[in-house]
Amino acid sequence: MRILVIEDEHRIANSIKKGLEQERYAVDVAYSGDKGFDLASTEEYDLIILDLMLPQMDGLKICQELRLKNIHTPILILTAKSQVQDKVEGLNSGADDYLTKPFSFEELVARIRALVRRPKNSLDSLLVVADLKLDTINFFTQRSGQEIKLSSKEFSLLEYLMRHGNQILTKEQIIAHVWNYEADILPNTVEVYIRNLRRKIDLPFKNKKPLIQTIRGFGYKIGLG
Ligand code: CA
Repeated sequence: MRILVIEDEHRIANSIKKGLEQERYAVDVAYSGDKGFDLASTEEYDLIILDLMLPQMDGLKICQELRLKNIHTPILILTAKSQVQDKVEGLNSGADDYLTKPFSFEELVARIRALVRRPKNSLDSLLVVADLKLDTINFFTQRSGQEIKLSSKEFSLLEYLMRHGNQILTKEQIIAHVWNYEADILPNTVEVYIRNLRRKIDLPFKNKKPLIQTIRGFGYKIGLG
């Protein structure tokens, strides 16, 4: 999952980025409103964390303009403004949730998890495809009851595939949601990561059907179908 943080206070922005990266998210930061708006309108994010008081373009304006452009990425407003009227204004301008500063990082992460859940996975944070399970809170993966150790990027890639079980995902989509803007990765990097994942979740289970499928000319999908 890839998150954009639009926040002009560098210290806060950088500490959110660092914390979220430890939670396996790919994170981009914009320190000004117009840069944030640019990134939010041109890149694919799963969530935007948005400060309200920003240089150049304020948060409410960003929210409204994105919704007008038909960009429906979930937006979490993070701000020092705590009056009811401010919250109402924020939510009315198209934001999905609101958290006031100072905030606890744990609460921020809990709210992010709630916002990025897809409807079909809304019951809990455990993703399941056939006999493969991925626990997105405890970073635990197992197949047929056997624990599988994944690197942080392999975990993010597998989570992205599993959240879109049985859907074909292109390399471009995978890059957009699993790596951040600075990562500058090439399509064959995705191939390398897919190969590593297969080595861990398919190859050791010789009696089982492989779960990761290559759809020639299109991309990849996970599932038995
Ligand atoms: Ca600010």
